[in-house]
Amino acid sequence: MILIYLAQCQAIHARSILPCQDCPAVKMTYDATVTVPKWATAVMSALSKESIGTAEYGDRVFQFSQKVPIPSYLFALAVGDLDSRDISPRCRVWSEPSMVEAVAYEFSQVEDFLKAAEELTLPYQWTRYDILCLPPSFPYGGMENPCLTFVTPTLLAGDKSLADVVAHEAAHSWSGNLVTNETWSHFWLNEGWTIFLQRKIMTKVHGDDKFFDFDAIGGWEDLKDSVALLPDKYTKLIPDLDDGDPDDAFSSVPYEKGFNLLYSLERTVGAEKFAPFMKAYFNEFKFSTVTTEKFVAFFDSYFKDVPKIKEFDWATWLHKPGMPEKPAFDRSLSEECEHLADAWISVDDGETGKGILPKGDISDWNTGLKTCFLDALISTCTDRKRPLNVATIDWMKVRYAFHESQNSEILFRFCMLAVEAEDASILPVVIRFITTQGRMKFVRPLYRALYHSKIGKELAVTTFFKHKDFYHPICAKMVISDFKSSQKKKKSFGNFVSEKLQNPLVLGSILALSAAVGIALLRGKRM
Ligand SMILES: [Zn+2]
Repeated sequence: MILIYLAQCQAIHARSILPCQDCPAVKMTYDATVTVPKWATAVMSALSKESIGTAEYGDRVFQFSQKVPIPSYLFALAVGDLDSRDISPRCRVWSEPSMVEAVAYEFSQVEDFLKAAEELTLPYQWTRYDILCLPPSFPYGGMENPCLTFVTPTLLAGDKSLADVVAHEAAHSWSGNLVTNETWSHFWLNEGWTIFLQRKIMTKVHGDDKFFDFDAIGGWEDLKDSVALLPDKYTKLIPDLDDGDPDDAFSSVPYEKGFNLLYSLERTVGAEKFAPFMKAYFNEFKFSTVTTEKFVAFFDSYFKDVPKIKEFDWATWLHKPGMPEKPAFDRSLSEECEHLADAWISVDDGETGKGILPKGDISDWNTGLKTCFLDALISTCTDRKRPLNVATIDWMKVRYAFHESQNSEILFRFCMLAVEAEDASILPVVIRFITTQGRMKFVRPLYRALYHSKIGKELAVTTFFKHKDFYHPICAKMVISDFKSSQKKKKSFGNFVSEKLQNPLVLGSILALSAAVGIALLRGKRM
C-alpha cells in the first residue's frame, strides 16, 4: 500500500502537528484543505467535501470540515493510493485497491453496530461512519477517529469473526468522542464505557444474552495479565499520572476494570434501571467532558432513591490497586471450552493414558469458543507456573491445526502456548507472524515470550533488529523497552541485547526512525 502520510494524535501527540491546546478538556471544530499528488486520496477525521478539483501540476485538492467539537487527540489524516466501497448510506470502507472487497465483506455489519448503539444511547451525531483499513504495520487494533475509524488488517479473518473491534470503535462515537474524559487519569470513562457498550452491541447482534458474560470472561483474563505486569500505581482505575506520558500507563486496566465497575453498578441497580441511566448519562454530558467525580455525582443523583447505592464501595473501585472482586459470571457458554481445556491439562499432567485424547472435532466452534479454550489453557498454565509439554502441543497441532490458522487471535494464543512450551518447531510460524504484521497486542507478548525462552532468546533480538524498519516507531520503541525491562528483571538474559542496544549504529537508526515519523505517532484504542 502506498501511504505517504498518516497522522493520529492520541494521547498527547497533536502538538507535533499543529498548535493547539493538547489536552482532552478542550474541544474544537476544524476545517482543512489538503493538497496531494494526483494519484493519491486524502481522508480525515471529518466530513469530506469531496475533491474540489486540481491544483498546480495536477495535484488533487480535498476539503474537510468537522463541525462537532472534538478534543485534539481525535484529529487524524491519512493520504494514500486508496479505493472505497459503500456498505450503507452512511458507511464507507477505504483501503488499498487490492483489498477493498475483502474489507467491505469483513465489516459489512457496521450499520447493525451503529443501530444497536443508537438504541442503547442516542442518535448518531457524526453524520458518516467510514473505516480505513491500514497497512499491517499499524500498531493497534483500531482508533476511533470521528467519521473515520482506523483499523488493522489483522481483523480480516475472512468470516467477520473479529469485527467486534469495529463495534468497539463505533461505540466510541458516544463514549470518548461525544462524552470525553476530561484528563487522561479518567481514561476509564472513555474505555470502560466503550467496552461496556461494545459487549451490549455484540450481545444484540448475536441475539444471545449469554454472550455478554462470555465476552467479559475473556476480558477478565486480559485484566489479570495486565495487573500481573504493571506497577500498582497503574492498576488503580484512576492512576497517578503526575507529569508522565499517558502512554506509559496504557493497559487493559481502564478498559476491563472500568467495564467491571459499570457491570457492578448495573447489577446493583438492575439492568432495567441501568438502561435508561445510560441514555441519561450520554445525554447529560454529550459534546462535553467528564471526570470520575462528575460521573459519580450524576450516578448518585440519578439513583438517589436506591438505598443500596449509598453502600457502594466507590473508594475501593476507584483507588485500590490490583484486581477488583471477581463477579459471578454466567459461564454457560464458556463451560464447554473450559472443560476441554481441563481435559488437555489432564493429558499434559499424564493423568490420561497416552492415546486417549480429548475431543478432536471442534470445527463447528466459532472463533470466540476457540479463543476461550486457548485462554483457559493459558490461564491454567500461568496459575500452575508451568507451560504445556511439547508433546501436548504436538498433539494439539494434529487435532486442531491452530498453528495453520488464518485467524490472528487464534494463531497468537497458540503461538504463545507453544513458545512457552519451548516447542522449537513453532519458531518459523512465530517469526512469520511477527514480521508480517506489527500490531502490538500480538508482537509485544510474542517477542517477550521468545526472549524469555531457551529456544528463541537470540532469535527474538536478531529478528527484531532485522525487521525494525517494518514496525511503527511506537511499536519498535515498546519492544526495545520490553527487552530492557526483561534485562533488568533477569540479568542472565541481558548481554546479547545490551550489545545490540549499545551499538551506536543500531541505536542511531532507531532514533532516526522515531524522529522521521515522529509527526505520525500513533495510538490506538482497542489493542
Ligand atoms: Zn477504545
